[in-house]
Amino acid sequence: MQTISFYPGPSKVYPQVKTFMAEAMDSGLLSRNHRSPEFVALSQETVLLLKQKLNIPKNYSIFFTSSATECWEVLAESYLDAYSFHIYNGAFGEKWLNYRKKIRGNASGQRFHTQRQLGIKSLTIPEQSELICLTQCETSNSTQLKNKQIRKIKKQHTQALIAIDATSSMGGIELEWSYGDIWFASVQKCFGLPAGMALMVCSPRAIEKAQEMQHNLHYNSLLFMSEKMREWQTTYTPNVLSIFLLNRILKHVPDIQTTSTLLKSRASYMYQELQQAGFQALIHSKRLRADTVLAIKASPQQVTYIKNQALKAGFLLGNGYGTWKEITFRIANFPAHTDEEVHALLKFLKEEGKKCQ
Ligand SMILES: *Cc1c(COP(=O)(O)O)cnc(C)c1O
Repeated sequence: MQTISFYPGPSKVYPQVKTFMAEAMDSGLLSRNHRSPEFVALSQETVLLLKQKLNIPKNYSIFFTSSATECWEVLAESYLDAYSFHIYNGAFGEKWLNYRKKIRGNASGQRFHTQRQLGIKSLTIPEQSELICLTQCETSNSTQLKNKQIRKIKKQHTQALIAIDATSSMGGIELEWSYGDIWFASVQKCFGLPAGMALMVCSPRAIEKAQEMQHNLHYNSLLFMSEKMREWQTTYTPNVLSIFLLNRILKHVPDIQTTSTLLKSRASYMYQELQQAGFQALIHSKRLRADTVLAIKASPQQVTYIKNQALKAGFLLGNGYGTWKEITFRIANFPAHTDEEVHALLKFLKEEGKKCQ
């Protein structure tokens, strides 16, 4: 019996990846140079597919990077002189701020309460902020920001660029691209692929700003990246296999509206079923809960017990993260998970839930 991973990344990989990997081998592409016409064609088509399937505006640029963590650095180094303000309520948002501060100290942040909606009025964003950083889905505590909230921040700060970490939601739920200038995500979450690559989606304004600032010291400065991407190329030898797999998966998946509707209704069904089984969601308010990552709160003993029993039954659950490490377990609700697998997991949890009471 193969274990089904409900870990919120790396998570279940689409089963079709096995065939696509073989196809990549047979194509000869993996031995080709990344300046070759074959690679360029793959890169161009993949960018096009991303725009079509995820409904990304035509005038936005897409870049291939190595990880979401790298994207944090790319932003810090490309907008080195821009004051960076970070709004967060969990471990990933906080990490991003800390990375930024280490590179250049012109950054600060405001933490908001995990159990309360981000109060736009309560934000004290420094006047000089040129980059406002948000985490759309905070994977560590299973909260998410609504498109509406992002829009409000954008409207009030028209001069600033809005950068959004959408690592555990891009490819899963519908994002309002025009409300953000820089969006990024790695592929081991909602894209259902092996880890080792990330995507960065940038508005024309984001590129213009990078050009104004002229920071070109690093191999992956936005400036250098956008120069190369004009020819559908990367600044370094990229993960060609991952780009190939992404290309094939994009051809296979439905458009984002369809996926988003499915994941949202499945998330509320999962929360409801779990509650009936006696489990308590870490986040009390339904309005704050993420659709793609669920966090369930229990005693440390219960968490350990459930995770072990789940493994025996063929399900890998996600550990808690950061502050919530011992007292939560997490469940990914990603597009690669089938309804059958989710039902099987819920059936298992319902039975175990009774024993835990
Ligand atoms: C997983 C995750 C990251 C880190 O992704 P890497 O690919 O490991 O760099 C960053 N931010 C969020 C919100 C995540 O969920």
